[in-house]
Amino acid sequence: EFAKTKTLSQQRQYLPIYSVRDDLLQVIRENQVVIVVGETGSGKTTQLTQYLHEDGYTSNGIVGCTQPRRVAAMSVAKRVSEEMETDLGDKVGYAIRFEDVTGPNTVIKYMTDGVLLRETLKDAELEKYRVVVMDEAHERSLNTDVLFGILRKVVAQRRDFKLIVTSATLNAEKFSQFFGSVPIFHIPGRTFPVNTLYSKTPCEDYVEGAVKQAMTIHITSPLGDILIFMTGQDEIEAACYALAERMEQLISSTQKAVAKLLILPIYSQLPADLQAKIFEKAEDGARKCIVATNIAETSLTVDGIFYVIDTGYSKMKVYNPRMGMDALQVFPVSRAAADQRAGRAGRTGPGTCHSPVPEIQRTNLGNVVLLLKSLKIENLLDFDFMDPPPQENILNSMYQLWVLGALNNVGGLTDLGWKMVEFPLDPPLAKMLLMGAKLHCLDEVLTIVSMLSVPTVFFRPKDREEESDSAREKFFVPESDHLTLLNIYQQWKSNDYRGDWCNDHFLQVKALRKAREVRSQLMDILKQLKITLTSSADWDMVRQAICSAYFHNSAKQKGIGEYVNTRNGIPCHLHPSSALYGLGYTPEYVVYHELLLTTKEYMQCVTAVEPHWLAELGPMFFSVKESDTSLLEHKK
Ligand code: ADP
Ligand code: MG
Repeated sequence: EFAKTKTLSQQRQYLPIYSVRDDLLQVIRENQVVIVVGETGSGKTTQLTQYLHEDGYTSNGIVGCTQPRRVAAMSVAKRVSEEMETDLGDKVGYAIRFEDVTGPNTVIKYMTDGVLLRETLKDAELEKYRVVVMDEAHERSLNTDVLFGILRKVVAQRRDFKLIVTSATLNAEKFSQFFGSVPIFHIPGRTFPVNTLYSKTPCEDYVEGAVKQAMTIHITSPLGDILIFMTGQDEIEAACYALAERMEQLISSTQKAVAKLLILPIYSQLPADLQAKIFEKAEDGARKCIVATNIAETSLTVDGIFYVIDTGYSKMKVYNPRMGMDALQVFPVSRAAADQRAGRAGRTGPGTCHSPVPEIQRTNLGNVVLLLKSLKIENLLDFDFMDPPPQENILNSMYQLWVLGALNNVGGLTDLGWKMVEFPLDPPLAKMLLMGAKLHCLDEVLTIVSMLSVPTVFFRPKDREEESDSAREKFFVPESDHLTLLNIYQQWKSNDYRGDWCNDHFLQVKALRKAREVRSQLMDILKQLKITLTSSADWDMVRQAICSAYFHNSAKQKGIGEYVNTRNGIPCHLHPSSALYGLGYTPEYVVYHELLLTTKEYMQCVTAVEPHWLAELGPMFFSVKESDTSLLEHKK
């Protein structure tokens, strides 16, 4: 109601942060670094940047605001551009990987923390920024943690630079200490009377459980919107589908009038116009039911949520240093995240927040190591980490980079390593590209890398599985899922990149268009590096390039469709949707893009390789033990 009847400027003045605007600006004038604490919805993300702009900080430089998630960067920039009555990309813009919507007039720039981190490669002191707001710092994303260390240096070197760190939980004291006991500014809270209702115990089939609970609320409880947390896109879609089905059954089976239920999915790969729908008010008498991934935990504030259904799980990418691999895994949510989720209904609980394990302590550091090395930070074990990652993690990531040929025997960047840093890609994908150039099949490899950098191109609607599966099979290149992706892109191209062609073949046109965009951006970088585009009709070369980048993910056959990782013996399975099933037999050796841990360990995106490629690529790889860190000892 509020959003409908009040102008944007009246809405701005109603936010809790508005009542302390002048005090806050005063504290910022007097201090170089300030920690700002406030409940979700108090106006930190949307207002702070505007206040700084209004207070004159953008007369010489811009205000940057980092977000751990892309969705937040995009949607908040859009909101702020509306509040400032300017076009998105003009005075207010955003930048996420492979997408820069800023211009020469931009004075407020929202971006992912990864984007700002990469900018430090070109401009170590971040000269163009007058102020950086590190938003949602309590999430402790890997990039945020590295930025903490880098920004501490910038603060020391540039007196004219200001840093503001926002935090929704009680991590503030730790952040303050890290920057030398800087002030912590508290935005006074405001509470709403709210009926919070959420299931605490994770149940077996949590999608089904959540759907049931939502329907019960809808039928029996007074109006007020529902927020359901799921672990990922697939489950969100399944839940939305099931909810729609139940509603239909309900309407056809009852004589009574049933209130309308507006089912709204939100996840990072959902198109922006559909994401924006969650902020629209439902028509009178209707109820919104938002089904979200953990992006809604803190990054997005949706007013009017009365009920939170928490499945108690979330999906995280974890790195297991002992196994030396990344995997997507479903986890019960941490206590802190659960508190945060419950708090989304309008009130945060009393001070019982616990910090989640920072990402830096549980993830593959390949990218970070490469980046820090290129920033000339020689000894990573000495870097200013707020919570240093386990030494084992750093050493393993260095080991993986050494195996890829990015680091030399004394831990310095090689020529290949320097080139790899130029690409906003994970090290193996960057290696694949450069290997494609070397093997004269860059054109093909570039397409594959682009396709691997976007969400799935396959469209598999719930009631048309068989039809879409057979559409997919028509594209199969039997020895490789990677080559299947290449084949799809090439056919799309020869059909003039048409959208209707995609629809006819059960392909996601948005994902393919994104791949085309990513491809052209990677092409620009290749041009800058003066690497020419070569094309090869011999796709064995392409498979060799793939093999060179992913031989840490190589597996040997053990049974039909069953493999074990050649290094660590971890079992991994061929997924029934893989093109390799079309071969009629399963090859002895394969490499895969990543491992998905569900009921089984499934390899995602698999390519058959020749054993002698593996042998040629990595004699040292097979002879040196992973625990052997002697090559790194040289450094000390
Ligand atoms: P905080 O960062 O303190 O959690 P925000 O600045 O994100 O608070 O949100 C302040 C208010 O702005 C919210 O109550 C919400 O109503 C509104 N808002 C935020 N983002 C959007 C958006 N993308 N679209 C519409 N309204 C928004
Ligand atoms: Mg915020």
